[in-house]
Amino acid sequence: MNDLRVILFYKFVRIENPEKFVKEHLKFCKNLGLLGRVLVSEEGINGSVAGTAEKIGEYEKYLKKDQRFSDMVFKEDPVVEIPFTKMKVRLRKEIVTFGKKVDFEKKGEYILPEKLKEMYENKEEFIILDARNYYEYKVGRFKNSVHLSIKNFREFPESLKKIKNLKNKKIVTYCTGGVRCEKASSYMKENGFKNVMQLKDGIINFGKQFPDTYWEGKCFVFDKRLVSKINTNEKTISNCEICLKPSDLYRNCRNLNCDKLIIECLSCQKELNGCCSQECLLDFRKQCIQKAMKNQGRKILGAITN
Ligand SMILES: [Zn+2]
Ligand SMILES: [Zn+2]
Repeated sequence: MNDLRVILFYKFVRIENPEKFVKEHLKFCKNLGLLGRVLVSEEGINGSVAGTAEKIGEYEKYLKKDQRFSDMVFKEDPVVEIPFTKMKVRLRKEIVTFGKKVDFEKKGEYILPEKLKEMYENKEEFIILDARNYYEYKVGRFKNSVHLSIKNFREFPESLKKIKNLKNKKIVTYCTGGVRCEKASSYMKENGFKNVMQLKDGIINFGKQFPDTYWEGKCFVFDKRLVSKINTNEKTISNCEICLKPSDLYRNCRNLNCDKLIIECLSCQKELNGCCSQECLLDFRKQCIQKAMKNQGRKILGAITN
């Protein structure tokens, strides 16, 4: 069997002429036969890439040779299947869309997984704040964590109003691999939150070192897997949105007009043909019939004109 991996990485560092960088980087990735998604901007690089252990090793070496990325941290996960279908390198305004300028000089102090674990063990008084979206929080989160009910990271700045009473508390922010916390923690400190720290390299890094401790459920990931295991025990903390039985199977509604991301157990998926509701199932069937009729029409037309 092939030894396959997914890596997650980011670095905020000035990239001059990012257009040129994008072209060269895409070419290099394609030549190596990697699949995944890399976002590039003048503010840095943020990516998730998959391939064989050997190719991933070559890729990491290539990046580290570049002085700008020499101290980059790669978070690795073994996978049985490559969870991407394409290799994309995209130019963006931001490597993680926040919509507000932040001053990284003010960013939250890094806290290592062992320190966070210790804080839990010692029952220290602190707020653990999830900087991710609500659908990510739903399938897995740190014990006792606070979330802001956001659908999108762009909503983070505005949603801080909800926790303005916590401005004087000790707060630890966390996200999947750490990139969002760089902006979130900086922004919080600039906006009156006095004592903000950020979990270094995120949930993935914590889970590697301390599985089965203070993380509950799975970790949402932005590739075909949708969730990744952190703990060795398989406890599911979320429920199917249709039948309410325990499930952490995410999928997009099969009705492309809807495309809603939902947690849907296998039996509900079967029953609703991968749709999120009876209405969507009807709509989906209508679309199938229309498509079939169109194809048939084409065939008949073809037969007449040939
Ligand atoms: Zn169900
Ligand atoms: Zn739907």
